[in-house]
Amino acid sequence: MRVVHSITSLQGMIDRNKREGRTVGFVPTMGFLHDGHLSLVKQAREQNDIVVMSIFVNPAQFGPGEDFEAYPRDKERDTNLAYEVGVDILFMPTPEEMYPQEGGIRILPGPQANVLCGASRPGHFDGVLKVVLKLFNIVDPDRSYFGMKDAQQLAIIETFVRDFNLRTSIVRVPIIRDQDGLAKSSRNVNLSETDRAEAPVIQQALQKGVLLFNEGSSVETIERGVTAYITENSSGIMDYVSLLSYPELAEYDGLSDEAILACAVKFGKTRLIDNIIISIKDGCHVQNDDEQ
Ligand code: AMP
Repeated sequence: MRVVHSITSLQGMIDRNKREGRTVGFVPTMGFLHDGHLSLVKQAREQNDIVVMSIFVNPAQFGPGEDFEAYPRDKERDTNLAYEVGVDILFMPTPEEMYPQEGGIRILPGPQANVLCGASRPGHFDGVLKVVLKLFNIVDPDRSYFGMKDAQQLAIIETFVRDFNLRTSIVRVPIIRDQDGLAKSSRNVNLSETDRAEAPVIQQALQKGVLLFNEGSSVETIERGVTAYITENSSGIMDYVSLLSYPELAEYDGLSDEAILACAVKFGKTRLIDNIIISIKDGCHVQNDDEQ
């Protein structure tokens, strides 16, 4: 595995591989790797000749007062894990390498970014799209792998690729969870012991929401049900819960093929997100976690 910090060295390596006819799979991450990231790499490994992973805690996607400083980082551990899972090139740029100048061009996402995390974190997806476009231009991947854990991010990136004719295929990868149902996240390490014990309530609440959905409850009843379950069974503070069409992220009107039930909950200073995608086929409602 090659570890690279400079954009020009990375581009040189990619160019050589492409000239020799190799396909490139790309896994962008913010590091502090866990099984969720590793499952993206495993899928990329199966479908491409070489796998490039980036680790970059992107300052542009953190707002003032968010956890940019507190975001967990461990380069040595990440390097070992990336090597073990079969990454060929690990790209770890500094913020100066990625953003040599302040300001510049901003990318404004459309209405998909006005809901869920986009509503709670103004400007977050502008920063995501900026770094994703830079990384796509640097890596020039045939396929890029994103987790359904960040389902809104994935939906916005799919739209971005389509609207701007970006030459990479986006591959959706299912959510990997701990045994108790908590979605794996780098931020889980920042939870206190009590909060970690309570956090699986998020997935349980979403499952309750799916039950309500299957019973034909209204969007409002479902959202209220999820909130009630979380507040009654934990000290978590609801940021949002929302049932929307997927991947449009528009108001759920009962007509779309897929819906997303998503929420964000704060435990102490740590904000966790999770979601369930619901497939609606032939009038019956099927929860579709495994096939996401
Ligand atoms: P992050 O490092 O949190 O920015 O995540 C990098 C990539 O890994 C994103 O595409 C995430 O959606 C994906 N990812 C993070 N957690 C999980 C998980 N539990 N299961 C699947 N994919 C994940």
